[in-house]
Amino acid sequence: MRILVVEDEPTLRRQLREAGEAAGYVVDECDNGRDAHFLGDTETYDAVVLDLGLPLLDGLTVLRRWREAGRSVPVLILTARDNWTEKVAGIDAGADDYMTKPFHMEELLARLRALIRRSVGLADPVLRHGELTLDTRSGKVTHAGVAVALTSHEYRVLEYLMHRCGDVVSRAELIGHVYAQDFDRDSNTVEVFVARLRKKLSADLIETVRGLGYRIARP
Ligand code: CA
Repeated sequence: MRILVVEDEPTLRRQLREAGEAAGYVVDECDNGRDAHFLGDTETYDAVVLDLGLPLLDGLTVLRRWREAGRSVPVLILTARDNWTEKVAGIDAGADDYMTKPFHMEELLARLRALIRRSVGLADPVLRHGELTLDTRSGKVTHAGVAVALTSHEYRVLEYLMHRCGDVVSRAELIGHVYAQDFDRDSNTVEVFVARLRKKLSADLIETVRGLGYRIARP
């Protein structure tokens, strides 16, 4: 899963990035509304954390423009303390959730997980498929009751495909959701991650749909 963090306060931005990465997300970040609007318009994210008070273009305007353009990415806004009108304006502009500063990072991460889950119609934070379980809270994966150690990239590929269970996911889409913007994106490495997942989990879990991409079939 890949998220965008938009926050102009450097310390908080760094904390958000570090917490997001520790939670297993690929995190892109920016510090102003203009870059945020561009990134949200051109990159693929599974969720966005959007501060509202931003230089160059305010967060509400960024959010309205995304929604007007039909971009449905889940957005969690960060609002100033005791400013309820900002929350109302944010939700009316298309925000899916909000956090009031200062906040506990654990709560923000829990809300992000819920947003990502709900955006694909899942209710349970533990994803299950046959003998396989993936706990989105802890990042732990088990197969037939046994813990499976995955690298961060293997985990992201598996998590994304499980969130999209039943759908064919193209290689380009997968790359967009498992690599950061500035990462050297080599599509061959996705094949390597899939091959390793098949080896570590089960050979027939991830299907290759010739010419289209990969799919984890509905159980
Ligand atoms: Ca701000």
